[in-house]
Amino acid sequence: MIHYSCDICQRPIHLHSDVRHVVKIEVFPAVEDGGCPCDDLEGIEAEADHLEEMQDLLEQLDDCDDPRMDQDAARSMRFDLCDACRQRFVKNPLGLKSGTQLNFSQN
Ligand SMILES: [Zn+2]
Repeated sequence: MIHYSCDICQRPIHLHSDVRHVVKIEVFPAVEDGGCPCDDLEGIEAEADHLEEMQDLLEQLDDCDDPRMDQDAARSMRFDLCDACRQRFVKNPLGLKSGTQLNFSQN
């Protein structure tokens, strides 16, 4: 049996009594111009229903050595949260300290 624990508070998440919440965060450079086959993935995927084209595309992606797509630039993260931490996370996803982002009323 797989045991989960909350990635924030380390509390064990019991699947029979708790709800496990999964947070997925993807960090990648926003690239506006073309130049790399990776950039065209979305458009091609929408238009092409040919398996062959997808295969070609995947091979291109494998060969892609665009420095923008390296490990440091593109990250996909996944966290398991208990319900309490999920509520806190949703309210403040970036972990900003309260008070620092709501100073608009001060002069
Ligand atoms: Zn937690």
